[in-house]
Amino acid sequence: MSKKIHVTDTILRDAHQSLLATRMRTEDMLPICDKLDKVGYWSLEVWGGATFDACVRFLKEDPWERLRQLRAALPNTRLQMLLRGQNLLGYRHYSDDVVKAFVAKAAVNGIDVFRIFDAMNDVRNLRVAIEAVKAAGKHAQGTIAYTTSPVHTIEAFVAQAKQMEAMGCDSIAIKDMAGLLTPYATGELVKALKAEQSLPVFIHSHDTAGLAAMCQLKAIENGADHIDTAISSFAWGTSHPGTESMVAALKGSEFDTGLNLELLQEIGLYFYAVRKKYHQFESEFTSVDTRVQVNQVPGGMISNLANQLKEQGALNRMNEVLAEIPRVRKDLGYPPLVTPTSQIVGTQAFFNVLAGERYKTITNEVKLYLQGGYGKAPGVVDEKLRRQAIGNEELIDVRPADLLKPEMDKLRAEIGAVAKSAEDVLTYAMFPDIGRKFLEERAAGTLTPEVLLPIPEAGRVASAGGEGVPTEFVIDVHGESYRVDITGVGVKTDGKRHFYLSIDGMPEEVVFEPLNEFVGGAGGSKRKNASAPGDVSTTMPGNIVDVLVKEGDVVKAGQAVLITEAMKMETEVQAPIAGTVKAIHVAKGDRVNPGEVLVEIEA
Ligand code: MN
Repeated sequence: MSKKIHVTDTILRDAHQSLLATRMRTEDMLPICDKLDKVGYWSLEVWGGATFDACVRFLKEDPWERLRQLRAALPNTRLQMLLRGQNLLGYRHYSDDVVKAFVAKAAVNGIDVFRIFDAMNDVRNLRVAIEAVKAAGKHAQGTIAYTTSPVHTIEAFVAQAKQMEAMGCDSIAIKDMAGLLTPYATGELVKALKAEQSLPVFIHSHDTAGLAAMCQLKAIENGADHIDTAISSFAWGTSHPGTESMVAALKGSEFDTGLNLELLQEIGLYFYAVRKKYHQFESEFTSVDTRVQVNQVPGGMISNLANQLKEQGALNRMNEVLAEIPRVRKDLGYPPLVTPTSQIVGTQAFFNVLAGERYKTITNEVKLYLQGGYGKAPGVVDEKLRRQAIGNEELIDVRPADLLKPEMDKLRAEIGAVAKSAEDVLTYAMFPDIGRKFLEERAAGTLTPEVLLPIPEAGRVASAGGEGVPTEFVIDVHGESYRVDITGVGVKTDGKRHFYLSIDGMPEEVVFEPLNEFVGGAGGSKRKNASAPGDVSTTMPGNIVDVLVKEGDVVKAGQAVLITEAMKMETEVQAPIAGTVKAIHVAKGDRVNPGEVLVEIEA
């Protein structure tokens, strides 16, 4: 008896997201579509939150237009996307009318298969998206966000799969975003899923710990039907097992994929050249890193944290933060670490370590999480912490989106005439700031994609500064040395200059603004240092999200006066004393540094 294993290639979505900061452009996808379309893949993954974000933010491409072009160029292959349930492609819960509109438009523009997940594995957050996909006549895939914890048992995952089956899903995916799966655990999970529900099982596993191909083989031997791979020049490490390798591994066996290895190799060679084109976005942290199997912290999260700690001059505290992450995760009832819970847990752990006291500062996102604003935690949350965080506020025990009113009309009115279609309104809905900027620049004809550097000759570092200009530096900050390479210089837009750097191998983008137009910016602060008891300051560098008081306001001690954002997380800054607001030195959008006086309060 033989059973054909179906293959989804992630080359147009997750592969370049995992290796090249999602920077591949449509112009590098279209020339190879004819060959990709002839392979006979079950599907090609082409769209998701990060591809949409990168299109609008960096590439200045309309993500909907990309989808339409891929649809036209790949007439014989299913196109697949990753959808964050009720969060769609964004970071908040959307009202049901937005979910329905988004799914309908994605289907019309070319998506056939919707892989739908929720960061909490709370299936209530999947329901409306699943119904919308079925209403559009497309394939709804229910997703298990895989993680390990005392509450994430095989029984719990099977129960979730059965719920998704009952909700009308067409298939089940095991999404191992962090590379936590091990081969025998995979085999047991797949075996149980196949025994207790009837839908096909897909396996999506990142090779972060070097185990993904073994996991897929065990999954297949235990009944899995589909595997996710990446063409070999974009495979392995933080990406997926190589397509050609898996096809070769199964060739001639009862699980033969039937795919043409020679054609795949031509495609692999094409993308080998494409990968070079984007060298400036490739970090040193894309190869195998087994740490996830010890500390359960995904590789992407480790490199983000390393960057954030460097910004604070506290890289020497990395091990403390890595040890704190599992404790925070336990306090929060063991959420899987995936967008957005990975940021929520990672940042709180970082604050706990740097403040020298656990939960001295609690981010707004942790507060919302503990209130039930993201859905139901997989395990039991720490009740004392919950009370500390939310006080007397009411718990949300319904599906969070049940509390939201329809918002499409409001969004349409907000974005106005720069939106030329329902798709444009949805672009704005997903990414309010960069979406609006994109639509306005498109209307003005000023869209400017970031600049790609020439491909370096072998053995030579790309020179961003021209002949004879140094592009490599070693800098010392608080006793730590960093190697900085300038990898690229962007064009000047809005009076700002973008630079692409690599700091100890991590790609970074920095924006410099002229000092005379930019009081209080990084390196250009004109604020004095806090000294009086009524001086309000922060402990972290960050941005001002909102100023909650005005001059002359009477405030109580502990009253929130500012909201700041550091590392994508918002924090309230409170009045240190009761009194009257004498002066405000910041406005929404300002960059602030620790110790500066942001607001002055007089007793
Ligand atoms: Mn993935």
